[in-house]
Amino acid sequence: MDKTEKLNVKVNIEEKLYMNRYATDTVSHLHIKDKAVCTRCKDKPCTDFCPANVYEWKEGRIVVGFEGCMECGACRIGCPYNNIEWRFPRGGTGIQFRLA
Ligand code: SF4
Ligand code: SF4
Repeated sequence: MDKTEKLNVKVNIEEKLYMNRYATDTVSHLHIKDKAVCTRCKDKPCTDFCPANVYEWKEGRIVVGFEGCMECGACRIGCPYNNIEWRFPRGGTGIQFRLA
């Protein structure tokens, strides 16, 4: 396979995500500071930029599925209202990446 062919290899993100393993904490490391701000947030970009679809807008409120967080840190800077308090999960919990 030449270099061009290598660059054209398609990556299935869903398959890659499926390989991740999580040591789920009982306490969320992601916290919405003020849910009223989310109601006013027009585009709700967190529902787009999170690669793990942690944030969903359901029945008029933001739902945070912290268990699937990949700890990429995008939501630390992506929320236009700085409305997400982000920490690493507590020691020993969180995502466990696997290389294939
Ligand atoms: S981007 Fe920020 S303010 Fe907007 S819905 Fe998401 S968490 Fe709430
Ligand atoms: S750190 Fe990354 S994966 Fe985790 S919730 Fe934020 S954007 Fe999503």
